[in-house]
Amino acid sequence: MSLGEFDLIQRYFKQAAKNSAEANKNTDSGIEIGIGDDCAILDIPDGYQLAVTTDSLVAGVHFFEDVCPYRLGYKSLAVNLSDLAAMGANPKWVSLAITLPNVDEHWLSEFSRGFFELANRYNVSLIGGDTTKGPLSITVSAKGIVPRHQALLRSGAQQGDLICVSSALGDGALGLATKLDHLSLTNKSLKNFPLLNSQAFVDALELTEPRIELGLLLSGKASSCMDISDGLLQDLGHITASSGCSAKLNVEQLPLSVAMKKEIAAQTISLDQAYQYALTGGDDYELLFTISAQSFKQLNEHIAQQNNGLTNSLAITVIGEIVEKNTQDIQLTLHNQPLHNQSLLMQGIGWDHFK
Ligand code: ADP
Ligand code: MG
Repeated sequence: MSLGEFDLIQRYFKQAAKNSAEANKNTDSGIEIGIGDDCAILDIPDGYQLAVTTDSLVAGVHFFEDVCPYRLGYKSLAVNLSDLAAMGANPKWVSLAITLPNVDEHWLSEFSRGFFELANRYNVSLIGGDTTKGPLSITVSAKGIVPRHQALLRSGAQQGDLICVSSALGDGALGLATKLDHLSLTNKSLKNFPLLNSQAFVDALELTEPRIELGLLLSGKASSCMDISDGLLQDLGHITASSGCSAKLNVEQLPLSVAMKKEIAAQTISLDQAYQYALTGGDDYELLFTISAQSFKQLNEHIAQQNNGLTNSLAITVIGEIVEKNTQDIQLTLHNQPLHNQSLLMQGIGWDHFK
């Protein structure tokens, strides 16, 4: 390595962490000892618990080797912050283990820029990590704080609760299809059936927004919550399994983005394909939660107060209902007609690394 390990850490991570703390005037970071010692030492405020999550991104599995390093830096943090959002935690600290095949300073500076762009947005401090040589991979561990016993879990859904999601579903999966040049449902090449705006879907895949504010708002209101990383159906299955209940999903209520609706109108993809992406595509990183009708009303009042219609990041849609105890299955309906297992929509549910 031309630049040594310690200079590299100093230049692209330690200095950037310092600049970011100064830019945010982050005097209340809770960091007694940050980067530079063998461990970081952190203060957790009274009455709070620590929420900890780790996600790895491996070249060739989670991203293309030639991905823009800015976007890789951004996304490696975004997927971790999304896990904190899902638990209703307030993100505070992050550590970064990075394995690099070689030292490419342009690559490192872009990676660091993307990482800190998002870290600064949510006032998250980089407190340590590890730097090694080998095939490119990134492991981030994010830490947040959550009021004692208030974390949102997968296990609290109750019969009669509404099932909701944030923003829109399916764009990330269509972005991946774009990059792979493969429309999964039909084996059509997207080069032969070009989308109107493929960049919008690639952006959705690579620049996901963690739903931190929504997670904080849901704390004390939602009965269960998780983020959708492996596809709505598979992830809702985790909620029904943990909660011991079953769910009814109304497919026509799935929220689709403006970009997706334009593609459907132009017939570059079909409505069935859009629903399949929304149901089974991964990489949405939207929040999936269950909530009683009464708390849902309060939530909407809070959202209306908070954003006065300014941001669409807090848009939420009811897509179904928790229906009964114990069976732990998911029933799909389209305009009140049951969709059966052999339906196109049910093929290839969700993402599993070992299948
Ligand atoms: P050790 O040998 O004790 O694991 P290192 O020499 O690997 O320590 O790291 C020195 C310091 O730099 C530690 O505080 C560590 O947390 C930090 N560090 C190493 N790599 C990174 C990184 N990629 N980003 C942020 N901090 C890092
Ligand atoms: Mg050590």
